[in-house]
Amino acid sequence: MPVARPTHVDIDLGALRHNFRLVRHQAGAERQVLAVVKADAYGHGARDVARALAKEGVDLFGVALLEEAKELRAAGIRAPILILGGIYPGQEAGFFAPDLIPCIFDLASARRLDAAARAAGRVIGCHIKIDTGMGRVGFFNGELDDLLPELSKLTHLRVDGIMSHLAVADEPEHPFTAEQIARFRQAVAKVRAFGHRPRYLHIANSAGLFAHDLPECNLVRPGIVLYGALPSNHFAGRLDLRPVMHWRTSIALLKTLPSGSGISYGHRFVTARPTLVATLPVGYADGYNRRLTNRGEVLVRGRRVPVAGTVCMDWTMIDVTEVPGVQVGDEVTLLGEADGQWIRAEEWAEKIGTIPYEVFCQVSKRVPRVIKG
Ligand SMILES: *Cc1c(COP(=O)(O)O)cnc(C)c1O
Repeated sequence: MPVARPTHVDIDLGALRHNFRLVRHQAGAERQVLAVVKADAYGHGARDVARALAKEGVDLFGVALLEEAKELRAAGIRAPILILGGIYPGQEAGFFAPDLIPCIFDLASARRLDAAARAAGRVIGCHIKIDTGMGRVGFFNGELDDLLPELSKLTHLRVDGIMSHLAVADEPEHPFTAEQIARFRQAVAKVRAFGHRPRYLHIANSAGLFAHDLPECNLVRPGIVLYGALPSNHFAGRLDLRPVMHWRTSIALLKTLPSGSGISYGHRFVTARPTLVATLPVGYADGYNRRLTNRGEVLVRGRRVPVAGTVCMDWTMIDVTEVPGVQVGDEVTLLGEADGQWIRAEEWAEKIGTIPYEVFCQVSKRVPRVIKG
């Protein structure tokens, strides 16, 4: 095996377990926890994350795609898996595997799934999704009177859960969450009145779990907090989360440039003094966002130093003039912790105009994930 280049992501499973316990505590004894591990566990590596959470006793997993559920099964995950995305034509039989739970949010796919299940002599447990105000997927409350009689014709589907999704829970003071919860309560009553006995009722993402009381729910669906980032800045200082992802590389080359030298494409950085520049073998192809050009900061030998010039596809330059003793091969931390200092996903997100979710998801498949702990 050739030795890999130094750019990699460390995944701190100890931090993941810590965050999960915080979630479990907040959920309380009455509510089960579904860990959302879609999109390769928000870029952290779904197999290893799910294995670690399974050992901690997580109750269910949530993914977006049938393919993601299959990947977890191949990794030996036995817990039930809720598939939050759709049932696309041709995929129906994939949902016959044990404890793969589809979400139903349109009648056409419900009918297709029912027909396939009937042909196979199966009954599929599923969760009904209600659109209480996300405007994305789900049935409106106003549709339920027409839907429920149609649904009861689909005798090979069993309603095991009712769910919805919160649109503004990351702004805890926003009054619309209460409205969504009220609509959810009405929907649950309607579905129950039709004779269904859903085992699971759930509406809360991370923000909903930590900012709202949800007396009607017995399952919560946290994602981002498990990975140690905040749902929004409204939660700053309120949650004792530990970031799980630490993105590292090392200095490939050092060179001194005289004052007045341009660095990288477009010469967007021009040295104002004789400058010691370190070249890092990481770029936007790895997910080091190009908008960190002249704005990003990284950790070297316990110091924060700036990105100098345009981030390239495979290379990024930093100004290490102020770092005593800096050498080729020194470890550089792009995201996460080093020597007690932090570069948090929230900080990146702020700089490049996005949210920590996207920061994590952007780390490309080219960067190996190394499991720690
Ligand atoms: C992604 C997702 C979640 C998790 O949201 P977080 O904000 O990461 O906690 C929960 N429910 C659904 C339906 C989702 O798509």
